[in-house]
Amino acid sequence: MAKKHVSTRPSAGVPPPLWHTQNVTDIYKALNTSKQGLSAAEAAHRLTTYGPNKLAEGKPTGPVVRFLRQFHNVLIYVLLGAAAITAFLEHWIDASVILGVVVINALIGFLQEGKAEDALRAIRNMLSPQAMVLRGGRRATVDAANLVPGDVVMLQSGDRVPADIRLFWVKGLHIQEAALTGESVAVDKIIESLPVETVLADRLCMAHSGTLVSSGQGTGVVVATGGATELGHISTLVATVEQLTTPLMSKMTRFGRWLTGAILVIAGMTAVFGVLIRDYSVPQMFLAAVGLAVAAIPEGLPAIITITLAIGVQRMAMRNAIVRRLPAAEALGEVNVICSDKTGTLTRNEMTVRTILTANTQYEVSGTGYDPHGGFQIDGNDVLPQDHPLLREVVRAAALCNDAQLEQREGEWLVNGDPMEGALLIANIKAGQEPESLAQQYPRTDLIPFESEHKFMATLHHSHTGEAFIFLKGAPEQILEMCASERTPTGDRPLDAALWHARTEKLAERGQRVLAVACKPGKGHEMELDFKDVKSDMVLLGLFGLIDPPRAEAIAAVERCQSAGIAVKMITGDHRTTACAISRQLGLVNPNIALTGQELEHMSDAELRDLAMDVNVFARVSPEHKLRLVSLLQGFGLTVAMTGDGVNDAPALKRADIGISMGNKGTEAAKEASEMVLADDNFASIVHAIEEGRTAYDNIRKSILFILPTNGGEALTIIAAVLMGFSELPLTPLQILWVNMITAVTLALSLAFEPTENNVMHRPPRHRDEAVLTPALLWRTAFVSVILLVGTFGLFMWEMEQGASIERARTVAVNTLIFFEIFYLFNSRYITASVLNAQGLFGNTYALIAIGVLIVFQLGFTYLDTLQVLFGTTAIGLMDWVLIILVASSVLFIVELEKAVLRRRPRAHQ
Ligand code: ATP
Repeated sequence: MAKKHVSTRPSAGVPPPLWHTQNVTDIYKALNTSKQGLSAAEAAHRLTTYGPNKLAEGKPTGPVVRFLRQFHNVLIYVLLGAAAITAFLEHWIDASVILGVVVINALIGFLQEGKAEDALRAIRNMLSPQAMVLRGGRRATVDAANLVPGDVVMLQSGDRVPADIRLFWVKGLHIQEAALTGESVAVDKIIESLPVETVLADRLCMAHSGTLVSSGQGTGVVVATGGATELGHISTLVATVEQLTTPLMSKMTRFGRWLTGAILVIAGMTAVFGVLIRDYSVPQMFLAAVGLAVAAIPEGLPAIITITLAIGVQRMAMRNAIVRRLPAAEALGEVNVICSDKTGTLTRNEMTVRTILTANTQYEVSGTGYDPHGGFQIDGNDVLPQDHPLLREVVRAAALCNDAQLEQREGEWLVNGDPMEGALLIANIKAGQEPESLAQQYPRTDLIPFESEHKFMATLHHSHTGEAFIFLKGAPEQILEMCASERTPTGDRPLDAALWHARTEKLAERGQRVLAVACKPGKGHEMELDFKDVKSDMVLLGLFGLIDPPRAEAIAAVERCQSAGIAVKMITGDHRTTACAISRQLGLVNPNIALTGQELEHMSDAELRDLAMDVNVFARVSPEHKLRLVSLLQGFGLTVAMTGDGVNDAPALKRADIGISMGNKGTEAAKEASEMVLADDNFASIVHAIEEGRTAYDNIRKSILFILPTNGGEALTIIAAVLMGFSELPLTPLQILWVNMITAVTLALSLAFEPTENNVMHRPPRHRDEAVLTPALLWRTAFVSVILLVGTFGLFMWEMEQGASIERARTVAVNTLIFFEIFYLFNSRYITASVLNAQGLFGNTYALIAIGVLIVFQLGFTYLDTLQVLFGTTAIGLMDWVLIILVASSVLFIVELEKAVLRRRPRAHQ
């Protein structure tokens, strides 16, 4: 973002915000709050006074501009040109009907686009940011929109700061304030008050709404919300409205331009041919050229593509995949590789401690989930924790070096915070120790928060008698490096690192996530904890083995990916052996071949390239490795979907073709970098979204395949009439417009609602460079156009030969065309599969309704006086209808025959 000069001037009438000059006690007083935060009742009361913590939405484009935008299309320009010239030739009815059709078309486009935009906005609103607050001294997660001045908010890395906050506690808190100041280097925050004249960018004791926590933690009191925040004062930053456009849409716009040029040339040539060779008059040929142009232009297509994608996006949202950017809906159908996190996405993230290992003893822990009923066994025999002080010490350490809180709601235990830490607290209760009384006994003075880069967390505690303790927990490889000794019931002894590594491997082989816990006495007077304090001389207390079983849906989804030609790679921060064990349970290909982050680091790109396709398990990787992997896989021409949840995952998420973040455990930073958010954090939802993406793309192709032959058939009919020197054209421009319009809003639109085909997840992904109009589709377009020509023109000629009036022959021709389309709609429901079965004929209720509506329209078109005058039609008899239906139904059988031939040559329909 460009550097902006930001004014800190408050809006008129509001006193200058000088929160940075005041100390925290004064602010508590001013806002009538405390370190414990507000009570829930008080917060609710304040919400009515201050209003929701939201910025005013960006003004969307007005309806007039949106309506006028519908005319900005080459196809429409041609129609407008045609209307102008017919008016010039004083064909008033023609001119006004062409204009009428253009306006109706714009209106339909306007309404459909409006609906699509509303649907997308509603989906985007499902992603409301959350904030962690203290309400009455307890942590709670609330919608950021419900924050009020006086609330105490906790910030951690990856959070978007939800309001203007005066900080009163920070630990390595760095905030990236580009959204506000334009400065992209993260700022180190402090808590001391600052002089009045400090400019916004230097107010280090404040965290401002809209900025991003890049590392560390902090707590502070909300001083301003919504429009009263600094961000609220900058009017340029209000939400921008995203354009409804995708690569496919731009491709179709280019195709539309090309088609218009080609149509104009053909229309011109036909007119010249008619005048020079067939002796038509110039005005006659001009009208024929207009008719031809009108016939060939698929004016309804752009709106149908938009609506089909919007329906796809809505269907994805119903299946828990929230698309943030429309192009992703399209790209989902191309995905060849999904790189997924393990914890919470492939697994349930409902951790339970199963094993605890101390120097001499292995304990098995019983009980399920977060229910604290359970105990400890040695070799299958129950033991009392009171008799095992070292067991109690190790669980106590794990409960103190912990940020989670347990909450009992309606008899059920819930975890606020990291589920793994929650499981450690539960183990502590099973050992007969209450986490809350522990925390009071040994208050925490400082901490080094967990980050996936260093893979550990450490805390410093002081007892009321002045003793200090440091507790450390994290990945065993990391922790063992920091330890010099290990604790035994009889005292400390030098660490046998090799033995502990072997023990770790053994637990990991059982699919358990392993965590090591260590401690060390601190210095009574030191109140701060630093990396150097935990780097060495720690005393290892023991290991925890936690289970986190794979999600049943994920196992099924992995299998579906394999049959759909999509590779699944697990990219996890966890231990190699654990990752392999889980990947075996999930059914990944090559589950026992894994690469670790460390190995990746020592490999050249060339070496990694040789392995990247075959290896599906990447363990102990950090976010930069993810970025490298995405780039490498993309180098093979693959479309890569990648999941991520932390602040440091943002670059990989941005780089991936489809970055996917987690709705529940994901940080705001990850969500903002991603194209799609999973409301339930579940791998299966990615696969559902891919299925919907493939369906949407199929449906777009079906619409195209349906619309183009209609235009082709009409255009060919006119060209044939001119070439053969017919004195009257079989279809007038107005009749053609009628057919195009009425079928687009009924029949073609019904294809947008086509349900997913059975084979959608049994075929390989579409290639990203594949043209929308493949040779097979072009062939079908030409082939069906000719059938329509022969039938329509044939019946027209037959009527004329029987001595029918031109009005009657034309009415028969139009109705033949319409019935051709009705029958061809069934063919178009499946591109290659047969529709001659119950599902094929009756499987799409929308199509059946559309056909019913269309027939009513056609009866009006044929028998209503006004429409007869307007369109030059006349009533026809029952026998005509029988003939029309007989002829038109031929397309259904001929195209099914063609599909049957294509199916025998599998490559031909690619
Ligand atoms: P995934 O990337 O699949 O979500 P993950 O959750 O195991 O896997 P990280 O969160 O990066 O990945 O964790 C890596 C390792 O760090 C874990 O295997 C564990 O040993 C350790 N670890 C995780 N959370 C904590 C924590 N809160 N405190 C201490 N150590 C932790």
